[in-house]
Amino acid sequence: MTICPICKGSSFIEVDRRARVPLLQNRVWEDRAGARVAPAGALSMMFCRTCEFAWNGAFDRSKVLYDPAYDNDQMQSDYFRKHVAAMARRIVDAAPKAGCLHVAEVGCGQGAFLAELAEVGGKRFASLTGFDPAWRGQLPSEAPNIRILQRYFGQETAYLMEEPAQIVVSRHTIEHVPDPIEFLRSIRTAMLNSPDARLFLETPDIGWIFRNFQPQDLFYEHCSLFSPRAFEFALASTGFELLQLEHVFGGQYLWVEARPGDISHPPMTAASELLADANRFVERRAEFVEKWGDQIDIVAQGSGVWVWGASSKGVTFALLVDPAGARLKGAIDINPNKVGRFMPISTLPISAPSELLDGATVIVMNPNYHAEIVEIVAEIGTNVTILNLTDI
Ligand SMILES: [Zn+2]
Repeated sequence: MTICPICKGSSFIEVDRRARVPLLQNRVWEDRAGARVAPAGALSMMFCRTCEFAWNGAFDRSKVLYDPAYDNDQMQSDYFRKHVAAMARRIVDAAPKAGCLHVAEVGCGQGAFLAELAEVGGKRFASLTGFDPAWRGQLPSEAPNIRILQRYFGQETAYLMEEPAQIVVSRHTIEHVPDPIEFLRSIRTAMLNSPDARLFLETPDIGWIFRNFQPQDLFYEHCSLFSPRAFEFALASTGFELLQLEHVFGGQYLWVEARPGDISHPPMTAASELLADANRFVERRAEFVEKWGDQIDIVAQGSGVWVWGASSKGVTFALLVDPAGARLKGAIDINPNKVGRFMPISTLPISAPSELLDGATVIVMNPNYHAEIVEIVAEIGTNVTILNLTDI
């Protein structure tokens, strides 16, 4: 029997089901043939009535492998870079003011955030150790106290840290982990057991996805999606004391600050409005896909319709409204590593903004990048209509 990975409860609803979705959204393909047969799995998103956690009940951990071909770099975006700098500043401000601080980042990608921390924190940090199986071995900037290990983080790798971490940060990683309780326990054992130690987590908020009707934010890689309540349950049962939880990045992400504490019972507070939001999401989902399909067919009379953003949201939106890759022209992306390649399963090509023709329409996948996209389009000087996902 399926049980909730966080509270072990058995009262939940299925909020979305899709038979064939790519295992990795951020893996693009050299040619159409490869993209067409990209490794795929099923999605069966569950939502727990008790702790308000959402998870993919069809997730198969043996299928997903993160390696150096994985590219989730969004640092070309000015908006995203500013967000990263602001989060680094928060950590430095919240860090203990004295002592020799050792920092660990779980799921550090190519080290951009560690480099930012090293720069903002200056001499405050004695060492910064990153863990990521997708590490390619090239730091974005020189920093002698940064060390990155091309490894998953867990009980068996925690010992690779030279000193117990006083600060552990994990951004956009826990949503990829099928057993977040085990993940948090591993972090807890790798941390300094002190009330001065800090854990910082950043991850998408399932509530934002439900309330804003964003089905393209549900995909295979994100097998574990938290709500504030789910964090209260998960942190209490793994020996953390929640200090602060707030929304960042235009409300899309949860930012959590916690410290080591005792294992405790989850709070007995009443459930939030989230179950009602989840039910509304289920009702609206089919309508969302149908409306966007119709809208694309109408505006396609011009010079074609493109999704802007060939990452998770763009890959998933394309598959929802155009699984055969027949309606949309392709995707636009500013990441040069993606341009000229193809998105998984829909096989839609990825182009640079300069390739847009007069009369084209783009659908912005992330509202946070709207202003930036308007600027890029104005610079190119092409007549392009820009639509947002929230327009329908
Ligand atoms: Zn639960």
